[in-house]
Amino acid sequence: MNIIFLGPPGSGKGTLADKVSKAVHIPAISTGALLREAVRSQSELGKQIQQYIDHGNLVPDTIMGNLIKDRLQLKDCQDGFILDGFPRTIEQAQMLDDLGICIDHVINLTISDEQIVARLTGRRVCPKCGATYHIENLPSADGKHCDVDGADLTQREDDHPETVRRRLVVYHELTEPLIAYYSDKQLLRSVDSSTDPANTMQGFLKAIDGKLDLE
Ligand code: ADP
Repeated sequence: MNIIFLGPPGSGKGTLADKVSKAVHIPAISTGALLREAVRSQSELGKQIQQYIDHGNLVPDTIMGNLIKDRLQLKDCQDGFILDGFPRTIEQAQMLDDLGICIDHVINLTISDEQIVARLTGRRVCPKCGATYHIENLPSADGKHCDVDGADLTQREDDHPETVRRRLVVYHELTEPLIAYYSDKQLLRSVDSSTDPANTMQGFLKAIDGKLDLE
């Protein structure tokens, strides 16, 4: 089963993708995480990528095309995959079509811009293990350190208020048109993700008529 999670930044694509991935044993592929890995490698390409991410802009389609093509060729994608954060432009969607990839479900997570700003600007991450917290909704035990490994929590550069607003502008302009693109192909289902992860999971199961081989 091949699934795409669409939705604005901070709508909870990553959280839902991880849950579904664990339940059905297919990989959740986060292009944001792949890109941050490239940034950490400090390669020339990684440095270029960092500039785009830190300013809240999209990484160019040509770079993304190569990245996703290589990732989808790995063996673990054989029985299906979940795409979290790809495609983000019509061109990227066409790349998937050109690769002959058949998509079973496109899940569009919905949430207001105000809620996104609150969620993302309050998000804190563990630089060591990647665990995420929220200063109000999901604080760590002492509010400063990771509960898993005790590392100092940090704020992602692109979660600062100005960059979050830029990411939203980019989302509305370049990614939102994908809603019509996949609606036209009769693949799109919208799920309210403005409450909590458990509710979003319920909405997701309803959207796909419970057709997941859940354990
Ligand atoms: P979010 O969904 O909350 O924006 P991600 O971790 O998915 O967070 O993405 C972080 C950043 O990585 C994006 O703002 C963008 O700069 C870059 N990025 C991720 N996926 C793509 C993509 N498919 N195309 C272009 N840029 C991307």
